[in-house]
Amino acid sequence: MRNIRVVDKGNQSTRWMRGWSCSLGKEGFHYFLNTPQSEKTQMIPKRPVVYDPFDYYYPKGKGPGGKKSVYLLFADLPDAPEAICTFLEDYGPLHLAGLLKAEAQQIVNFQDPPDPLKDVLSAIHTFRALLTLCQGHNEQRIDLVNQVKGIPLLVANQGQWKPIPHPTQLKEVQTKIRLILSRQLEGMTFVPCLDKDTKCWGHRWTFRSLLSIFYYMLFLDLERAGYHRQCPVAEYGCGAFFVTWRASTVYCSEQCQKRAKVRRMRDPDRKSRTISGNKKRP
Ligand SMILES: [Zn+2]
Repeated sequence: MRNIRVVDKGNQSTRWMRGWSCSLGKEGFHYFLNTPQSEKTQMIPKRPVVYDPFDYYYPKGKGPGGKKSVYLLFADLPDAPEAICTFLEDYGPLHLAGLLKAEAQQIVNFQDPPDPLKDVLSAIHTFRALLTLCQGHNEQRIDLVNQVKGIPLLVANQGQWKPIPHPTQLKEVQTKIRLILSRQLEGMTFVPCLDKDTKCWGHRWTFRSLLSIFYYMLFLDLERAGYHRQCPVAEYGCGAFFVTWRASTVYCSEQCQKRAKVRRMRDPDRKSRTISGNKKRP
């Protein structure tokens, strides 16, 4: 068992499967065991393989070469089916009731899906809304809480999406964050195990879906007092989600900050605009 850098002590690992060829059909995303016809990415293996999603989770927010944790890449996904397919091939199906079964899987088991993209878009949009609520709570900004009002907050429940009511006041936000996280992490189990070679105890988490793994990663950063933020589009940022441990960070990267500065200088209306500072944690 490998040492995963998620907690300070102990051995921890989790497993998921990726490498299915993915395509969007009339009812939703389908996965096939066939060798992918195109080598769209370097990451995709030739056949489905078990991997540890936590190899793509970086506790400091960014990994080697500035790579972001996979859950943030998920939040950044555009609504375009092709980009979503590539992501699902790289990291595996989002929901997989039968866990790790090496057979063709279908992602949508939800009743009467009118739109094949609905399932996965619901998952992405709710995930983004949670990140925005986390930011709203951290910075005590009701404008961010109001921003997600148009997005249904859907949590998976026995193969169905169930909506939960939006928070309308700042004091309600933490209760909603807790509710979404606990619903999404439902069914997560802890398995202690003894490594035969090292004779050391470790543990393994089992998850019902890749989506729950993403929620768990988000929570780990929340627990470690990270600030979840979105690069401010209104201030010439790129709109990407990121996590930082510096309260003063506004942009997702140094490059983005520099680009925004140049664009602000060129903007004839710049005098009327100011960077909205991030308030400190309550
Ligand atoms: Zn940015």
